[in-house]
Amino acid sequence: MAKQAIVVGAGLGGLSAAIHLRLSGFEVSIFEQNVRPGGKMNQFAAGGYRFDTGPSLLTLPSVIDELFAKAGLERNDFLEFEPVEPICRYFWDDGQRLDAGKDVEAMKAELARISPADAENYADFLRYAGRIYDMTADIFLHTPIHEVRKLLTRENIPAFLRLLKIDPLRTMHQGIGRFFKHPHIVQLFDRYATYNGSDPFKAPATLNVIPYVEHGLGGYYIKGGMYRLVEALSELALSLGVKLHLSAPAEKIFHQDRKLRGVVVNGDFIPADYLVCNADVVTAHNQLIDGFPEMRKKLNRLEPSISGLVFLWGVKKRHEQLTHHNILFSRDYRREFTQIFDRREAPDDPTVYIAITSKCDPEHAPAGGENWFVLLNMPYLKDGQDWAAITAQMRERVLAKLKQAGIDIRDQIEIEQTYTPADFYNHYGSNRGSIYGISSNRRSTAFRRPANRSRLIKGLYFAGGASHPGGGIPLVLLSGKMAAELIAEDAGVAAKGQQIGHRVTEITES
Ligand SMILES: Cc1cc2nc3c(=O)[nH]c(=O)nc-3n(C[C@H](O)[C@H](O)[C@H](O)COP(=O)(O)OP(=O)(O)OC[C@H]3O[C@@H](n4cnc5c(N)ncnc54)[C@H](O)[C@@H]3O)c2cc1C
Repeated sequence: MAKQAIVVGAGLGGLSAAIHLRLSGFEVSIFEQNVRPGGKMNQFAAGGYRFDTGPSLLTLPSVIDELFAKAGLERNDFLEFEPVEPICRYFWDDGQRLDAGKDVEAMKAELARISPADAENYADFLRYAGRIYDMTADIFLHTPIHEVRKLLTRENIPAFLRLLKIDPLRTMHQGIGRFFKHPHIVQLFDRYATYNGSDPFKAPATLNVIPYVEHGLGGYYIKGGMYRLVEALSELALSLGVKLHLSAPAEKIFHQDRKLRGVVVNGDFIPADYLVCNADVVTAHNQLIDGFPEMRKKLNRLEPSISGLVFLWGVKKRHEQLTHHNILFSRDYRREFTQIFDRREAPDDPTVYIAITSKCDPEHAPAGGENWFVLLNMPYLKDGQDWAAITAQMRERVLAKLKQAGIDIRDQIEIEQTYTPADFYNHYGSNRGSIYGISSNRRSTAFRRPANRSRLIKGLYFAGGASHPGGGIPLVLLSGKMAAELIAEDAGVAAKGQQIGHRVTEITES
């Protein structure tokens, strides 16, 4: 008889774990508390406008290609990845502007308009960041690093010995300062710390790998909307025979004598030997898993990543000065991060990110209009924050900042929806509203991030942004893969790739 596995949560990490487990021959049931799969990768539509509510940029698309290939399928037949060029248009308060992209010569020309000396160093910076990628990818992205026997393999040991070369002792900002001097250009590259929800003035320079991943390897949009990824992964899971239960919240993960016993969903006890928890690890230990107070304390001491305030605006005019991805920078980045991470308050001059998918998919907005996804960096939750008041205040600041940049949309917004850090906690259970799991503000974070296999409860595994290797689309997909591979090993099933065929099953709503 096939072994059974349960997945709690149908975020990207949970979907990936379910697909990998099914491909290893497990009977898999996913229990998702919401009415739709996808977790923080979600969508919203109203008044002829359609929006993604979470991720807007895909990096490392090969991770998705490999997932489909493992199921014996071509990703191209299900999803179209469109390279975004320019990847992002940057605006500063003094009127300067820069289009950043993958083409090295075009990028150098753009940088040279702001600082010829810095432009000269761009190729060296990419080489430095690319080297970090080459030295870290196998260890940090593809290995469950808490498993010593996997970490210290013959293949990994040379990379492990080179770890000091990945610039872990400087901060990201200091690492960038070795190549660039102009404050605008430093700010542009500092910004990549936010891709995993961290502070460039604290996070280790190893994270300078992120601009390489985007500029060196490319940034992509998923044609039709980012949510197409969730639809395609859900369809793949279902076609393989995974059972997806929606509106099915796990109320308790049961264990006894340090062994997993099962899960309670909508009041029913479901026994299980193997369970992947895609719910945030910290929230799970706070709410779903009884006992282990020391572990709970330890997890709650880890600093959550940044959160976000999202405005979805259906704008009834087109704005040709904007492209698909845009950033309007704050005047003082250090102050913005001090406010967010140290004072845990909304920044008085926020950096404003605007993604407009109707630039690529015109049907995402009525004729003549645009669908704006606007994201501001925000602190994670603490007592005493009044998100209704903060939202109203930040809305004014964003509209004023846009007007100053010559983009006055105050009378053009015909659809509006907002998501605050409290919503990220309430809708998805993200620890204190964090959107990328645990911040990388400490050098040791990569090793302190919760493991994919529970050390306390046999049969319990974790996948998702709050566990190894961290937040962001490709990383959470890899975390699901690692959790599934560990289960396959523990169950004595070799994770060999496709072991089962495709079949048609249904989604159930409990
Ligand atoms: C505004 C925003 C912008 C972002 N931009 C990008 C970007 O451009 N590029 C990028 O790569 N990443 C981006 N990210 C990050 C990315 O969205 C996340 O890292 C990723 O989607 C998280 O996936 P996950 O598997 O950790 O699960 P989550 O998305 O957190 O999903 C967990 C799932 O578990 C469910 N769940 C929780 N508790 C229970 C329970 N008790 N019972 C049943 N189900 C439960 C939740 O409902 C949810 O569906 C962004 C995120 C946000 C919010």
